[in-house]
Amino acid sequence: MAFEQLLSGKLLREFETVSAMVKIYCKAHHKSSELHPCEECESFIEYAHTRLDRCPYGQDKPTCNKCPVHCYKPHMKAKAREIMIFAGPRMLLPHPVMAVLHLLSERKPAPGKPPAASSNRHQRINLASKD
Ligand SMILES: [Zn+2]
Repeated sequence: MAFEQLLSGKLLREFETVSAMVKIYCKAHHKSSELHPCEECESFIEYAHTRLDRCPYGQDKPTCNKCPVHCYKPHMKAKAREIMIFAGPRMLLPHPVMAVLHLLSERKPAPGKPPAASSNRHQRINLASKD
């Protein structure tokens, strides 16, 4: 998936964590294989990717739980919650590093208002316009 290359650092790590959770959830609920989630879950992964790319906090992104900005559409948010509740506790065995890093960042306090123009997408557009 080439679109993964748009993200880096913390945002990429978060994307990988979300993808892993969706795959655990999909395998259990939709009988898909862990490598290929079903179409619905695949499109959720893409949606999460776009939200991460446009997150106004950029690399200082808090965990979604703590975030004061509600950027997911209501039905996507409901699906995200369902996936997290199911897959969160099941992450520790297959993905211990991701699970622990996520738990650690959950402990950071909620941030204030996001700074201007610091999303990953903004940074990318800025870089491109400097050429
Ligand atoms: Zn699925």
